Amino acid sequence: MSVRRVMGIETEYGISVPGDPTANPMILSGQVVNAYASAQGIRAAHASWDYADEAPLRDARGFDMARGVADPSQLTDEEDPTLANVVLTNGARLYVDHAHPEYSSPEVTSPRAAVAYDRAGELIMAESVRRLSQVPPGVNLYKNNTDGKGQSYGTHENYLMRRETPFTEIVRHLVPFFVTRQVFTGSGRVGIGMDSRKAGFQLSQRSDFFEVEVGLETTLKRPIINTRDEPHAVADLYRRLHVIIGDANHCDVANLLKLGTTSLVLAMIEDRAIDLDLTVARPVATLQKISHDPSCAELIELRDGSTTTAVQLQWRYRELAERYLQERYAGEVDADTAEVMHWWGVVLDKLERDPSGAAREVDWVGKQQVMQGYIDRDGLEWSDPRLRAIDIQWSDVRADKGIFHKLRRAGRFEELVTDEQVHEAVHEPPADTRAYFRGKCLEKYPDQIAAASWDSVIFDIPGQPSLQRVPMLEPLRGTRASVGALLDRSPDAETLLRELASASG
Ligand code: ATP
Ligand code: MG
Ligand code: MG
Repeated sequence: MSVRRVMGIETEYGISVPGDPTANPMILSGQVVNAYASAQGIRAAHASWDYADEAPLRDARGFDMARGVADPSQLTDEEDPTLANVVLTNGARLYVDHAHPEYSSPEVTSPRAAVAYDRAGELIMAESVRRLSQVPPGVNLYKNNTDGKGQSYGTHENYLMRRETPFTEIVRHLVPFFVTRQVFTGSGRVGIGMDSRKAGFQLSQRSDFFEVEVGLETTLKRPIINTRDEPHAVADLYRRLHVIIGDANHCDVANLLKLGTTSLVLAMIEDRAIDLDLTVARPVATLQKISHDPSCAELIELRDGSTTTAVQLQWRYRELAERYLQERYAGEVDADTAEVMHWWGVVLDKLERDPSGAAREVDWVGKQQVMQGYIDRDGLEWSDPRLRAIDIQWSDVRADKGIFHKLRRAGRFEELVTDEQVHEAVHEPPADTRAYFRGKCLEKYPDQIAAASWDSVIFDIPGQPSLQRVPMLEPLRGTRASVGALLDRSPDAETLLRELASASG
């Protein structure tokens, strides 16, 4: 499978209302989502994530009320965050989670497509907040992972894996990988410690928020490896590995590497191709130590007593991957895998010589360079609140305000995906996963769909007494190749369902 596998990225966006400390982020997040949904003509009931009980599908909410605000019955539909949960024509989910607007990308099969759909999510958020800009004024969204005052919100990666792979093997080989990959996946952050108690700059937005090695939680006692096991697919065959340790990336190269190198390591774990034990001593402390070291030169300790650097440990994984690809594919790898291997080598090489050389590829390096510019020009200290403000402004989703976006337009970052590809990904689903069927059904038959989730679409056909559910437990079925022609010649959902039934009967 190399780097190609079913994957998706979820991003919770930071939300702010300048000057209004009483603003309720939960309600605002719901308004953001609803603003986009209503502009696109999407009904809230289009999403259902309530798998246990399908009876209340007609007013499908699927949202955990326990996290909600005071009394939802007091809210108008526009305000009710439990109604803010929709599926888009690109196959993505847009909803409210932990009082943040969240975009969960459709399932894709390559890191490159994951980058395009992740960037599409940011455009969708920018459009949502633009629609909302009048009520109340100044609400804004940020593609980052901390407010710098002690709160963190996640960017999750999801990878389809073979169920048979022992979880202990996943933990053994992924922990050292996750502890060290932040040298290129980190988005950079002003402040050390969850609440930025100490002045300084660090590699990762998220690392200070991790407390344990393995666990089920995602918002307290955050674990390096999350054990959540909701496959949204045939459970006997598949696991969906839920990764909560990553930062939200703006740089295409860093984002591609985050997904691509992780997918390669997973392929090696599945094929039992890692014969080294790279276990690090005290993983959580080491994670934070690496994040706090922008020189990337500090030594870390492995459990066997040897010492190395984070970059050198990443080289070990890359060497293992090179050998694996050689042995398994005789070096004849697909273009996506070759691209990941290429950038992995380029970036590690730069980080090893002098991290500042990776400013075009790696978020934290690019951010640090801009900060250093202000420090040199104005004689600022790292504790200066202006630097914290720049840190937040960096991730502003608005094209004309976000520092990253302005610098990207000025050509300061390596771009792997074009603006046209990103714009297309806002509306068009990936062609090669079940997201195609989901997205196209929502585009073609919006009024005949009662609900949709990752693993089913539920139709409400006029004149028929019951809802009809089309299960989609195989993520690689429902692609354009398999259902494209059928969708093209079905003017309504009734015809589609009849044809589907006769095809499978
Ligand atoms: P949260 O962490 O916000 O509580 P969650 O992780 O359970 O939620 P969603 O926000 O619904 O899930 O997002 C699921 C993500 O996983 C999406 O990006 C989707 O594309 C992806 N995905 C869905 N099914 C699979 C699968 N079988 N394998 C890999 N990725 C999947
Ligand atoms: Mg989610
Ligand atoms: Mg998640």
